[in-house]
Amino acid sequence: MDGVQRAHDRVAETARARPAGAARAPLGFSALARRGARRRPSANDPDFGPDDVRDLQSLAGNRAVAELHQPSVQRDGPDGGVPAGGTPTAGAPASTPGPTDAGTSPSGGVPEDPHEQLRRAFSERTPAAVGAVSDFGVATDAERLTLITIMLETVPFEAGAAGTVRRIWQAFGDRLPRVASDRSELWERCNVAGAQLPEAWLGAGAGHAAVGGGEEVGGWQYVVAGAFDYQITGDAINVTVKIAFVPDAGVTVPVSQWFGYVTSTWNHYTAVNQTDRTQKRRIEFKPVQAAGMHSVTVHAGGGRANAGEYYVGDSRAASTIPHEFGHLVGLEDEYERNAADYKRVTGEEPPAAATDTLTAAVTAGEIRAAIMQPEHLLEFHTTAVERRMGALNRVLYANHFPSYYSTPETRAVAAAYKTAYGSELSADIVAQVDQDDEVSNFRDWREGVVGIFEYTNTSIMGNSDLAVAGTPEHEHPVQPRHVRRFAELVEGFLAHGAWKPEADH
Ligand SMILES: [Zn+2]
Repeated sequence: MDGVQRAHDRVAETARARPAGAARAPLGFSALARRGARRRPSANDPDFGPDDVRDLQSLAGNRAVAELHQPSVQRDGPDGGVPAGGTPTAGAPASTPGPTDAGTSPSGGVPEDPHEQLRRAFSERTPAAVGAVSDFGVATDAERLTLITIMLETVPFEAGAAGTVRRIWQAFGDRLPRVASDRSELWERCNVAGAQLPEAWLGAGAGHAAVGGGEEVGGWQYVVAGAFDYQITGDAINVTVKIAFVPDAGVTVPVSQWFGYVTSTWNHYTAVNQTDRTQKRRIEFKPVQAAGMHSVTVHAGGGRANAGEYYVGDSRAASTIPHEFGHLVGLEDEYERNAADYKRVTGEEPPAAATDTLTAAVTAGEIRAAIMQPEHLLEFHTTAVERRMGALNRVLYANHFPSYYSTPETRAVAAAYKTAYGSELSADIVAQVDQDDEVSNFRDWREGVVGIFEYTNTSIMGNSDLAVAGTPEHEHPVQPRHVRRFAELVEGFLAHGAWKPEADH
Protein backbone atom coordinates (compact mmCIF):
# COMPACT_ATOMS: atom_id res chain seq x y z
CA MET A 1 0.00 0.00 0.00
CA ASP A 2 3.06 2.21 0.42
CA GLY A 3 1.63 5.27 2.02
CA VAL A 4 -1.84 5.01 0.59
CA GLN A 5 -4.13 4.20 3.45
CA ARG A 6 -7.41 2.49 2.90
CA ALA A 7 -10.40 4.54 3.92
CA HIS A 8 -12.68 2.79 6.38
CA ASP A 9 -15.84 4.72 5.89
CA ARG A 10 -16.40 4.97 2.22
CA VAL A 11 -19.48 4.28 0.21
CA ALA A 12 -18.31 2.36 -2.75
CA GLU A 13 -18.92 -0.49 -5.02
CA THR A 14 -17.02 -2.66 -7.36
CA ALA A 15 -18.11 -5.31 -9.80
CA ARG A 16 -20.28 -4.70 -12.81
CA ALA A 17 -17.10 -3.77 -14.57
CA ARG A 18 -17.40 -3.56 -18.29
CA PRO A 19 -14.72 -3.63 -20.96
CA ALA A 20 -12.59 -0.50 -20.89
CA GLY A 21 -13.28 1.75 -23.79
CA ALA A 22 -16.81 0.56 -24.32
CA ALA A 23 -19.05 3.27 -25.64
CA ARG A 24 -20.67 5.35 -22.96
CA ALA A 25 -24.32 5.99 -23.18
CA PRO A 26 -25.76 9.13 -21.67
CA LEU A 27 -27.82 8.40 -18.62
CA GLY A 28 -31.49 8.99 -19.04
CA PHE A 29 -34.70 7.32 -19.91
CA SER A 30 -33.38 4.68 -22.23
CA ALA A 31 -36.75 3.10 -22.21
CA LEU A 32 -40.03 4.30 -20.87
CA ALA A 33 -42.84 2.04 -21.75
CA ARG A 34 -46.28 1.39 -20.53
CA ARG A 35 -46.75 -2.20 -19.70
CA GLY A 36 -50.46 -2.44 -20.00
CA ALA A 37 -50.53 -4.02 -23.40
CA ARG A 38 -50.30 -7.51 -22.01
CA ARG A 39 -53.37 -6.81 -19.88
CA ARG A 40 -55.44 -5.34 -22.66
CA PRO A 41 -58.64 -7.37 -22.99
CA SER A 42 -58.65 -9.63 -25.97
CA ALA A 43 -61.43 -11.20 -27.93
CA ASN A 44 -60.59 -14.40 -26.12
CA ASP A 45 -61.55 -12.86 -22.83
CA PRO A 46 -64.81 -14.57 -21.85
CA ASP A 47 -65.73 -11.41 -20.04
CA PHE A 48 -65.24 -9.31 -23.13
CA GLY A 49 -68.11 -8.45 -25.38
CA PRO A 50 -68.96 -6.30 -28.40
CA ASP A 51 -69.42 -3.30 -26.17
CA ASP A 52 -65.87 -3.62 -24.97
CA VAL A 53 -64.68 -3.52 -28.55
CA ARG A 54 -66.72 -0.48 -29.31
CA ASP A 55 -65.65 1.27 -26.14
CA LEU A 56 -62.02 0.38 -26.67
CA GLN A 57 -62.19 1.93 -30.10
CA SER A 58 -63.67 5.06 -28.68
CA LEU A 59 -61.33 5.26 -25.71
CA ALA A 60 -59.40 8.06 -27.36
CA GLY A 61 -61.45 10.94 -28.57
CA ASN A 62 -64.71 9.93 -27.02
CA ARG A 63 -67.33 12.27 -28.37
CA ALA A 64 -69.34 11.74 -25.24
CA VAL A 65 -66.83 13.93 -23.40
CA ALA A 66 -68.60 16.99 -24.68
CA GLU A 67 -71.80 15.80 -23.08
CA LEU A 68 -70.31 15.15 -19.69
CA HIS A 69 -70.76 18.65 -18.46
CA GLN A 70 -74.31 19.01 -19.74
CA PRO A 71 -77.20 18.77 -17.34
CA SER A 72 -78.85 15.42 -17.81
CA VAL A 73 -82.09 16.94 -19.09
CA GLN A 74 -80.25 18.36 -22.06
CA ARG A 75 -78.67 15.13 -23.13
CA ASP A 76 -79.33 13.56 -26.45
CA GLY A 77 -81.24 10.36 -26.69
CA PRO A 78 -79.85 6.92 -27.47
CA ASP A 79 -76.74 6.95 -29.55
CA GLY A 80 -77.32 3.62 -31.18
CA GLY A 81 -75.43 1.63 -28.60
CA VAL A 82 -76.08 -2.05 -28.44
CA PRO A 83 -77.83 -3.05 -25.24
CA ALA A 84 -75.59 -5.16 -23.08
CA GLY A 85 -76.34 -8.44 -21.42
CA GLY A 86 -79.08 -8.68 -18.82
CA THR A 87 -82.69 -7.87 -19.45
CA PRO A 88 -84.01 -5.36 -16.96
CA THR A 89 -86.49 -6.70 -14.49
CA ALA A 90 -90.01 -5.99 -15.62
CA GLY A 91 -92.23 -4.14 -13.25
CA ALA A 92 -89.56 -2.22 -11.44
CA PRO A 93 -90.88 0.86 -9.68
CA ALA A 94 -90.83 3.31 -12.54
CA SER A 95 -91.82 6.15 -10.30
CA THR A 96 -88.55 6.16 -8.40
CA PRO A 97 -86.67 9.12 -9.73
CA GLY A 98 -83.12 8.32 -10.68
CA PRO A 99 -80.31 10.85 -10.80
CA THR A 100 -80.61 11.06 -14.56
CA ASP A 101 -84.35 10.90 -14.77
CA ALA A 102 -85.09 13.28 -17.58
CA GLY A 103 -88.81 12.98 -17.18
CA THR A 104 -89.36 10.57 -20.02
CA SER A 105 -91.94 7.97 -19.32
CA PRO A 106 -91.19 4.26 -19.57
CA SER A 107 -91.78 3.07 -23.08
CA GLY A 108 -93.60 -0.15 -22.82
CA GLY A 109 -91.58 -1.84 -20.05
CA VAL A 110 -88.57 -2.84 -22.18
CA PRO A 111 -86.32 0.17 -21.99
CA GLU A 112 -83.88 0.57 -24.83
CA ASP A 113 -82.98 4.13 -24.03
CA PRO A 114 -79.68 4.25 -22.10
CA HIS A 115 -81.09 7.07 -20.01
CA GLU A 116 -83.91 4.82 -18.97
CA GLN A 117 -81.50 1.94 -18.35
CA LEU A 118 -79.43 4.27 -16.21
CA ARG A 119 -82.46 5.36 -14.24
CA ARG A 120 -83.31 1.73 -13.57
CA ALA A 121 -79.73 1.00 -12.53
CA PHE A 122 -79.90 3.66 -9.84
CA SER A 123 -83.35 2.52 -8.85
CA GLU A 124 -82.46 -1.14 -8.45
CA ARG A 125 -78.80 -0.77 -7.50
CA THR A 126 -77.91 -4.33 -8.58
CA PRO A 127 -75.03 -5.51 -10.77
CA ALA A 128 -77.57 -6.84 -13.27
CA ALA A 129 -79.34 -3.51 -13.57
CA VAL A 130 -76.06 -1.65 -13.93
CA GLY A 131 -74.85 -4.20 -16.46
CA ALA A 132 -78.02 -3.59 -18.49
CA VAL A 133 -76.98 -0.04 -19.24
CA SER A 134 -75.92 -0.12 -22.86
CA ASP A 135 -74.01 3.15 -22.90
CA PHE A 136 -72.37 4.69 -19.85
CA GLY A 137 -71.50 7.69 -21.99
CA VAL A 138 -74.84 9.19 -21.00
CA ALA A 139 -73.91 9.20 -17.31
CA THR A 140 -72.11 12.01 -15.52
CA ASP A 141 -68.71 11.50 -13.91
CA ALA A 142 -70.29 11.32 -10.48
CA GLU A 143 -72.90 8.85 -11.67
CA ARG A 144 -70.27 6.56 -13.18
CA LEU A 145 -68.26 6.57 -9.97
CA THR A 146 -71.41 5.75 -8.02
CA LEU A 147 -72.23 2.91 -10.43
CA ILE A 148 -68.76 1.49 -9.84
CA THR A 149 -69.29 1.53 -6.10
CA ILE A 150 -72.62 -0.22 -6.63
CA MET A 151 -70.81 -2.93 -8.58
CA LEU A 152 -68.26 -3.26 -5.76
CA GLU A 153 -71.03 -3.98 -3.27
CA THR A 154 -71.25 -7.50 -4.72
CA VAL A 155 -67.85 -9.16 -4.55
CA PRO A 156 -66.48 -11.41 -5.73
CA PHE A 157 -67.87 -10.33 -9.06
CA GLU A 158 -70.64 -12.31 -10.66
CA ALA A 159 -70.33 -13.34 -14.28
CA GLY A 160 -70.22 -10.30 -16.52
CA ALA A 161 -69.57 -7.85 -13.70
CA ALA A 162 -65.91 -7.34 -14.60
CA GLY A 163 -66.92 -6.41 -18.13
CA THR A 164 -69.50 -3.97 -16.81
CA VAL A 165 -66.93 -2.29 -14.59
CA ARG A 166 -64.52 -2.00 -17.48
CA ARG A 167 -67.23 -0.43 -19.66
CA ILE A 168 -68.00 2.15 -16.98
CA TRP A 169 -64.33 3.15 -16.70
CA GLN A 170 -63.99 3.29 -20.47
CA ALA A 171 -66.86 5.75 -20.65
CA PHE A 172 -64.53 8.40 -19.21
CA GLY A 173 -62.90 8.41 -22.61
CA ASP A 174 -59.60 10.21 -22.93
CA ARG A 175 -60.01 11.57 -19.41
CA LEU A 176 -59.85 8.07 -17.98
CA PRO A 177 -56.16 8.29 -16.94
CA ARG A 178 -56.76 11.44 -14.92
CA VAL A 179 -59.97 10.17 -13.31
CA ALA A 180 -58.36 6.83 -12.46
CA SER A 181 -55.38 8.67 -10.95
CA ASP A 182 -57.57 10.87 -8.79
CA ARG A 183 -59.63 7.81 -7.81
CA SER A 184 -56.73 5.39 -7.59
CA GLU A 185 -58.21 3.69 -4.54
CA LEU A 186 -61.42 2.92 -6.43
CA TRP A 187 -59.41 1.70 -9.42
CA GLU A 188 -57.43 -0.60 -7.16
CA ARG A 189 -60.57 -1.95 -5.46
CA CYS A 190 -61.95 -2.85 -8.86
CA ASN A 191 -58.82 -4.80 -9.69
CA VAL A 192 -58.83 -6.56 -6.33
CA ALA A 193 -62.41 -7.59 -7.09
CA GLY A 194 -61.30 -9.02 -10.42
CA ALA A 195 -62.03 -6.28 -12.95
CA GLN A 196 -58.67 -6.77 -14.69
CA LEU A 197 -58.44 -3.12 -15.65
CA PRO A 198 -55.55 -2.77 -18.10
CA GLU A 199 -52.71 -0.62 -16.82
CA ALA A 200 -52.38 0.81 -20.32
CA TRP A 201 -55.63 2.65 -19.70
CA LEU A 202 -53.79 4.76 -17.13
CA GLY A 203 -51.72 6.34 -19.90
CA ALA A 204 -48.77 8.26 -18.52
CA GLY A 205 -50.25 7.92 -15.05
CA ALA A 206 -48.46 4.62 -14.60
CA GLY A 207 -45.64 2.77 -16.22
CA HIS A 208 -42.29 1.12 -16.08
CA ALA A 209 -39.01 2.88 -16.64
CA ALA A 210 -35.56 1.51 -17.30
CA VAL A 211 -32.83 4.06 -16.70
CA GLY A 212 -29.18 3.41 -17.08
CA GLY A 213 -25.86 3.83 -18.72
CA GLY A 214 -22.17 3.61 -18.08
CA GLU A 215 -20.18 5.62 -15.59
CA GLU A 216 -16.52 6.02 -14.69
CA VAL A 217 -15.71 6.12 -10.99
CA GLY A 218 -12.20 6.31 -9.63
CA GLY A 219 -10.81 5.41 -13.02
CA TRP A 220 -12.90 2.28 -13.46
CA GLN A 221 -15.95 1.65 -15.60
CA TYR A 222 -19.31 0.62 -14.19
CA VAL A 223 -22.85 0.19 -15.36
CA VAL A 224 -25.91 1.70 -13.72
CA ALA A 225 -29.05 -0.32 -14.44
CA GLY A 226 -32.07 1.37 -12.88
CA ALA A 227 -35.63 0.13 -13.21
CA PHE A 228 -38.84 0.98 -11.42
CA ASP A 229 -42.60 0.98 -11.72
CA TYR A 230 -44.57 4.10 -10.94
CA GLN A 231 -48.17 5.10 -10.49
CA ILE A 232 -49.48 8.59 -10.01
CA THR A 233 -52.42 8.92 -7.64
CA GLY A 234 -54.40 11.89 -6.44
CA ASP A 235 -51.78 12.77 -3.82
CA ALA A 236 -48.61 10.85 -4.64
CA ILE A 237 -46.37 9.27 -7.19
CA ASN A 238 -45.64 5.79 -5.93
CA VAL A 239 -42.34 4.39 -7.12
CA THR A 240 -42.12 0.65 -6.68
CA VAL A 241 -38.72 -1.01 -6.85
CA LYS A 242 -38.79 -4.80 -6.84
CA ILE A 243 -35.73 -6.43 -5.32
CA ALA A 244 -35.20 -10.18 -5.28
CA PHE A 245 -32.66 -10.99 -2.56
CA VAL A 246 -30.60 -14.09 -3.19
CA PRO A 247 -28.79 -14.87 0.09
CA ASP A 248 -25.83 -17.18 0.34
CA ALA A 249 -26.43 -20.37 2.30
CA GLY A 250 -26.98 -19.61 5.98
CA VAL A 251 -27.49 -15.90 5.42
CA THR A 252 -30.68 -14.22 6.65
CA VAL A 253 -31.51 -10.98 4.89
CA PRO A 254 -32.64 -8.17 7.25
CA VAL A 255 -35.22 -7.06 4.71
CA SER A 256 -37.42 -4.86 6.88
CA GLN A 257 -34.41 -3.12 8.43
CA TRP A 258 -32.85 -2.42 5.05
CA PHE A 259 -36.11 -1.23 3.51
CA GLY A 260 -36.55 0.98 6.57
CA TYR A 261 -33.16 2.58 5.81
CA VAL A 262 -34.34 3.21 2.26
CA THR A 263 -37.70 4.78 3.09
CA SER A 264 -36.37 6.87 5.99
CA THR A 265 -33.66 8.27 3.73
CA TRP A 266 -35.60 8.73 0.51
CA ASN A 267 -39.20 9.58 1.42
CA HIS A 268 -38.97 13.28 2.23
CA TYR A 269 -39.91 14.94 -1.03
CA THR A 270 -43.08 16.22 -2.62
CA ALA A 271 -43.51 17.29 -6.21
CA VAL A 272 -45.07 20.76 -6.03
CA ASN A 273 -46.59 22.70 -8.92
CA GLN A 274 -44.76 26.02 -8.78
CA THR A 275 -47.62 27.79 -10.58
CA ASP A 276 -50.22 26.51 -8.11
CA ARG A 277 -48.64 25.36 -4.90
CA THR A 278 -51.85 23.75 -3.70
CA GLN A 279 -51.16 21.01 -6.28
CA LYS A 280 -48.82 18.38 -4.83
CA ARG A 281 -47.86 14.75 -5.14
CA ARG A 282 -45.70 13.05 -2.52
CA ILE A 283 -42.77 11.15 -4.03
CA GLU A 284 -43.06 7.78 -2.31
CA PHE A 285 -40.46 5.08 -2.81
CA LYS A 286 -41.67 1.59 -2.10
CA PRO A 287 -39.00 -1.11 -2.09
CA VAL A 288 -40.61 -4.52 -2.20
CA GLN A 289 -39.19 -8.00 -2.10
CA ALA A 290 -40.21 -9.46 -5.45
CA ALA A 291 -38.74 -10.96 -8.57
CA GLY A 292 -38.62 -9.57 -12.04
CA MET A 293 -36.74 -6.30 -11.67
CA HIS A 294 -33.54 -6.32 -9.62
CA SER A 295 -31.64 -9.27 -8.24
CA VAL A 296 -29.28 -8.72 -5.29
CA THR A 297 -26.96 -11.35 -3.93
CA VAL A 298 -26.53 -11.14 -0.16
CA HIS A 299 -23.31 -12.30 1.46
CA ALA A 300 -22.23 -12.78 5.04
CA GLY A 301 -19.55 -10.47 6.38
CA GLY A 302 -18.79 -6.86 5.72
CA GLY A 303 -17.51 -6.55 2.18
CA ARG A 304 -17.92 -3.67 -0.18
CA ALA A 305 -21.47 -3.45 -1.48
CA ASN A 306 -22.56 -2.68 -5.00
CA ALA A 307 -25.95 -2.48 -6.67
CA GLY A 308 -26.04 -6.26 -7.12
CA GLU A 309 -24.36 -7.43 -3.92
CA TYR A 310 -25.08 -6.52 -0.32
CA TYR A 311 -23.43 -7.68 2.91
CA VAL A 312 -25.38 -8.43 6.07
CA GLY A 313 -22.35 -7.46 8.16
CA ASP A 314 -22.07 -3.99 6.61
CA SER A 315 -21.64 -1.67 9.59
CA ARG A 316 -22.58 1.26 7.38
CA ALA A 317 -25.75 -0.32 6.02
CA ALA A 318 -27.84 2.69 7.05
CA SER A 319 -26.16 4.70 4.30
CA THR A 320 -24.90 1.92 2.01
CA ILE A 321 -28.34 0.44 1.33
CA PRO A 322 -29.98 3.82 0.51
CA HIS A 323 -26.97 4.62 -1.73
CA GLU A 324 -27.40 1.37 -3.63
CA PHE A 325 -31.14 2.01 -3.83
CA GLY A 326 -30.29 5.22 -5.68
CA HIS A 327 -28.57 3.12 -8.34
CA LEU A 328 -31.65 0.89 -8.59
CA VAL A 329 -33.72 3.92 -9.63
CA GLY A 330 -31.03 4.88 -12.14
CA LEU A 331 -28.81 7.40 -10.36
CA GLU A 332 -25.08 7.67 -10.97
CA ASP A 333 -22.37 7.85 -8.36
CA GLU A 334 -21.25 11.26 -7.18
CA TYR A 335 -17.86 10.29 -5.78
CA GLU A 336 -14.51 9.99 -7.50
CA ARG A 337 -15.84 11.62 -10.66
CA ASN A 338 -13.78 13.71 -13.04
CA ALA A 339 -14.60 17.41 -13.30
CA ALA A 340 -16.87 17.13 -16.34
CA ASP A 341 -18.87 14.19 -14.99
CA TYR A 342 -19.10 15.81 -11.57
CA LYS A 343 -20.67 18.94 -13.06
CA ARG A 344 -22.99 16.95 -15.30
CA VAL A 345 -24.22 14.61 -12.57
CA THR A 346 -24.49 17.03 -9.65
CA GLY A 347 -25.13 20.26 -11.50
CA GLU A 348 -22.57 21.84 -9.18
CA GLU A 349 -19.08 23.22 -9.59
CA PRO A 350 -16.38 20.89 -8.22
CA PRO A 351 -15.29 21.63 -4.64
CA ALA A 352 -12.71 24.37 -4.28
CA ALA A 353 -8.97 23.80 -4.44
CA ALA A 354 -6.28 25.12 -2.10
CA THR A 355 -4.82 28.46 -3.06
CA ASP A 356 -1.14 27.53 -2.70
CA THR A 357 -0.66 27.02 -6.41
CA LEU A 358 3.17 27.07 -6.27
CA THR A 359 3.37 24.03 -3.97
CA ALA A 360 0.67 22.34 -6.04
CA ALA A 361 2.62 22.93 -9.25
CA VAL A 362 5.78 21.41 -7.75
CA THR A 363 3.86 18.32 -6.62
CA ALA A 364 2.16 18.05 -10.00
CA GLY A 365 5.61 18.03 -11.63
CA GLU A 366 6.79 15.25 -9.31
CA ILE A 367 3.74 13.15 -10.10
CA ARG A 368 4.22 13.80 -13.81
CA ALA A 369 7.78 12.55 -13.63
CA ALA A 370 6.68 9.47 -11.67
CA ILE A 371 3.90 8.29 -13.96
CA MET A 372 5.61 9.18 -17.24
CA GLN A 373 8.68 7.04 -16.60
CA PRO A 374 9.38 5.41 -19.94
CA GLU A 375 9.09 1.76 -20.65
CA HIS A 376 12.50 0.29 -21.40
CA LEU A 377 13.20 -1.83 -24.40
CA LEU A 378 12.77 -5.55 -23.72
CA GLU A 379 11.32 -5.12 -20.24
CA PHE A 380 7.89 -6.41 -19.34
CA HIS A 381 5.13 -3.80 -19.43
CA THR A 382 4.25 -4.55 -15.83
CA THR A 383 7.82 -3.85 -14.78
CA ALA A 384 7.48 -0.30 -16.00
CA VAL A 385 4.07 -0.01 -14.36
CA GLU A 386 5.49 -1.14 -11.02
CA ARG A 387 8.26 1.39 -11.29
CA ARG A 388 5.69 4.16 -11.89
CA MET A 389 3.55 2.93 -8.99
CA GLY A 390 6.47 2.98 -6.61
CA ALA A 391 7.50 6.48 -7.62
CA LEU A 392 3.92 7.73 -7.42
CA ASN A 393 3.46 6.19 -3.98
CA ARG A 394 6.55 7.99 -2.73
CA VAL A 395 5.20 11.36 -3.87
CA LEU A 396 1.81 10.73 -2.25
CA TYR A 397 3.42 9.56 0.98
CA ALA A 398 5.75 12.56 1.16
CA ASN A 399 2.77 14.89 0.81
CA HIS A 400 0.63 13.02 3.36
CA PHE A 401 -2.17 12.68 0.86
CA PRO A 402 -5.12 10.49 1.86
CA SER A 403 -6.73 7.98 -0.48
CA TYR A 404 -10.03 7.91 -2.37
CA TYR A 405 -11.32 11.37 -1.49
CA SER A 406 -9.85 14.64 -2.60
CA THR A 407 -8.78 17.44 -0.28
CA PRO A 408 -8.25 21.10 -1.17
CA GLU A 409 -4.55 20.26 -1.60
CA THR A 410 -5.05 17.31 -3.93
CA ARG A 411 -7.57 19.30 -5.96
CA ALA A 412 -4.97 22.06 -6.31
CA VAL A 413 -2.49 19.48 -7.60
CA ALA A 414 -4.99 18.24 -10.18
CA ALA A 415 -5.67 21.81 -11.31
CA ALA A 416 -1.93 22.61 -11.54
CA TYR A 417 -1.34 19.40 -13.49
CA LYS A 418 -3.98 20.30 -16.05
CA THR A 419 -2.61 23.80 -16.40
CA ALA A 420 0.93 22.54 -16.95
CA TYR A 421 0.29 19.49 -19.12
CA GLY A 422 -3.15 20.01 -20.60
CA SER A 423 -4.65 16.69 -19.51
CA GLU A 424 -6.51 15.28 -16.52
CA LEU A 425 -4.17 13.85 -13.91
CA SER A 426 -6.66 11.11 -13.08
CA ALA A 427 -6.86 10.06 -16.74
CA ASP A 428 -3.08 10.04 -17.11
CA ILE A 429 -2.68 7.82 -14.05
CA VAL A 430 -5.24 5.40 -15.50
CA ALA A 431 -3.39 5.37 -18.83
CA GLN A 432 0.13 5.01 -17.39
CA VAL A 433 -0.60 2.66 -14.50
CA ASP A 434 -2.99 0.33 -16.22
CA GLN A 435 -2.29 -3.14 -14.85
CA ASP A 436 -0.24 -5.10 -12.40
CA ASP A 437 -1.00 -8.76 -11.95
CA GLU A 438 1.47 -8.97 -9.09
CA VAL A 439 -0.52 -6.57 -6.92
CA SER A 440 -3.64 -8.38 -5.78
CA ASN A 441 -5.47 -5.25 -4.73
CA PHE A 442 -4.40 -3.23 -7.73
CA ARG A 443 -7.99 -2.24 -8.41
CA ASP A 444 -8.47 -0.67 -5.01
CA TRP A 445 -4.99 0.82 -5.01
CA ARG A 446 -5.48 2.67 -8.24
CA GLU A 447 -8.98 3.86 -7.37
CA GLY A 448 -7.60 5.17 -4.08
CA VAL A 449 -4.97 7.16 -5.91
CA VAL A 450 -7.09 8.34 -8.83
CA GLY A 451 -9.96 9.29 -6.52
CA ILE A 452 -7.99 11.98 -4.71
CA PHE A 453 -7.53 13.86 -7.97
CA GLU A 454 -11.25 13.65 -8.70
CA TYR A 455 -14.37 15.03 -7.03
CA THR A 456 -16.75 13.67 -4.45
CA ASN A 457 -20.12 15.10 -3.44
CA THR A 458 -21.47 14.82 0.10
CA SER A 459 -24.93 13.56 -0.91
CA ILE A 460 -26.18 10.00 -0.52
CA MET A 461 -24.86 9.22 -4.01
CA GLY A 462 -21.44 10.55 -3.07
CA ASN A 463 -20.25 10.07 0.48
CA SER A 464 -22.73 11.49 2.96
CA ASP A 465 -20.25 10.95 5.79
CA LEU A 466 -18.33 13.90 4.39
CA ALA A 467 -21.32 16.24 4.78
CA VAL A 468 -20.76 19.03 7.26
CA ALA A 469 -23.40 20.07 9.77
CA GLY A 470 -25.42 22.99 8.47
CA THR A 471 -25.16 22.03 4.80
CA PRO A 472 -28.18 20.91 2.77
CA GLU A 473 -26.57 17.53 2.19
CA HIS A 474 -26.20 17.03 5.92
CA GLU A 475 -29.89 17.80 6.40
CA HIS A 476 -31.03 15.79 3.38
CA PRO A 477 -28.56 13.31 1.91
CA VAL A 478 -31.10 12.95 -0.88
CA GLN A 479 -30.99 16.14 -2.92
CA PRO A 480 -33.72 17.53 -5.21
CA ARG A 481 -31.77 16.44 -8.32
CA HIS A 482 -32.07 12.82 -7.20
CA VAL A 483 -35.88 12.89 -7.31
CA ARG A 484 -36.41 15.46 -10.08
CA ARG A 485 -37.20 12.68 -12.55
CA PHE A 486 -40.31 11.79 -10.56
CA ALA A 487 -41.57 15.37 -10.45
CA GLU A 488 -41.11 15.39 -14.23
CA LEU A 489 -43.25 12.27 -14.54
CA VAL A 490 -46.00 14.02 -12.59
CA GLU A 491 -45.70 17.11 -14.77
CA GLY A 492 -45.76 15.03 -17.93
CA PHE A 493 -48.87 13.20 -16.83
CA LEU A 494 -50.86 16.19 -15.64
CA ALA A 495 -49.64 18.23 -18.62
CA HIS A 496 -49.72 21.56 -16.87
CA GLY A 497 -47.69 23.66 -14.48
CA ALA A 498 -44.03 23.49 -13.50
CA TRP A 499 -43.41 20.75 -10.98
CA LYS A 500 -40.36 20.74 -8.72
CA PRO A 501 -39.37 18.42 -5.89
CA GLU A 502 -39.28 20.01 -2.44
CA ALA A 503 -38.16 18.41 0.82
CA ASP A 504 -41.10 18.99 3.14
CA HIS A 505 -41.47 15.97 5.36
ZN1 LIG B 1 -22.46 3.75 -5.98
